[in-house]
Amino acid sequence: MIESPVASELLSKINERRVLEFVQRNGPASRAVIARGGGMSAPTVSKAVVSLIRNEFLEETEASQAGFGRPGKLLQLSEQKANVLGVVIDADTCWIGSARLDGAVGEEQSISFRTPKTYDGLLQAVINGLGEITGNVKGDLSERFRGVGLSVPGLFNSRVGETVMSPNLHLLDGQRLAADLSNEIGLQCIALQESHALCVGERMYGAARGMNDFAILDVSTGLGLGIVSGGHLLTGNSGMAGELGHITVVPDGQRCGCGNRGCLETVATDTAFARLISRELGRKVGVKEALTAPAVNGSEEVIAQTVDYLAIAVSAVINIFNPATLFLHGQLMNSDPKIFKRVMRQAKKRTLSPSFKDCRILQSQGNKRLGAVAGIIDHLANELAPAFAPVGNGNTEQAS
Ligand SMILES: [Zn+2]
Repeated sequence: MIESPVASELLSKINERRVLEFVQRNGPASRAVIARGGGMSAPTVSKAVVSLIRNEFLEETEASQAGFGRPGKLLQLSEQKANVLGVVIDADTCWIGSARLDGAVGEEQSISFRTPKTYDGLLQAVINGLGEITGNVKGDLSERFRGVGLSVPGLFNSRVGETVMSPNLHLLDGQRLAADLSNEIGLQCIALQESHALCVGERMYGAARGMNDFAILDVSTGLGLGIVSGGHLLTGNSGMAGELGHITVVPDGQRCGCGNRGCLETVATDTAFARLISRELGRKVGVKEALTAPAVNGSEEVIAQTVDYLAIAVSAVINIFNPATLFLHGQLMNSDPKIFKRVMRQAKKRTLSPSFKDCRILQSQGNKRLGAVAGIIDHLANELAPAFAPVGNGNTEQAS
């Protein structure tokens, strides 16, 4: 058999990615452990390791394993040059942090700030923030960091890298934040729609490790949905799939940030809940305060209504996508187990029974910060080689 050089190189790259993902998932390991655990031959692992060390993804440590025999050298994710930066853009608050390839973010290496009112202000604030946590925004940044991952809210056209419309943060409309940032700091910047970033983060670092069929319903200022089906993130034609928050549920309801009336997002989010409780209290409160506010006339009605609309959202996701697992992400449900349980009870009534039985519903462990970091790390891995085939038939979970 004649081996094509192109196919052979691709195979090498795929093996490099497998070795890298093994160390990402399992921590420092010897070549022998990687070969055994990853189902590869020793020469294949050695060859991949040489390339990964040369490209500064991995480094060899002198640390020896406890036990008898010759101490073995371990391979770990590079701590020298493998750092990445994550940026989360949100309607009220933004976050910037630096992380290692294993996704660990140092507390002292992150900052938060209020979202500026203009696009230019936002771009400048991100540049300043990056400067603050890296010590120097220009010059040697590319020597210490491999890239920046951004989580952005709203409709994001991933084909052209542009936020087409952001219903809760209109200053992003028509802007290409990743490209503009990259021009300013001279480092590759990758933006992901926030719900898609949550999926990538949950799969890389959270409770969805090894899963091929799951969905994340993100309930915060808006209502977002990310779907991983058959091992692939569903993006639609141009990255705008999953906008469950903008289907109409109250035909003559309140005006939504998207221009339509009565979108699910206007009645089933943390923000909608806080707004309704504020009306009952007669003063403006945030989500946290709304949750702990003493019961007033009408507050039980507000909770019941919000729960019912959240249940409609859950039921829609399960009926349409048949995910093996649905992760729920949001302050309202995460901070009050009673509300989570009520949503589940209502959702069970509204969902096709076989589909509901086929789906586990869990609280998400990830967050947008991990999503932003995972976004750039996933991009770096994709640059190395295409993703390896999905694990099993969709319900299989890989041991980690
Ligand atoms: Zn809308």
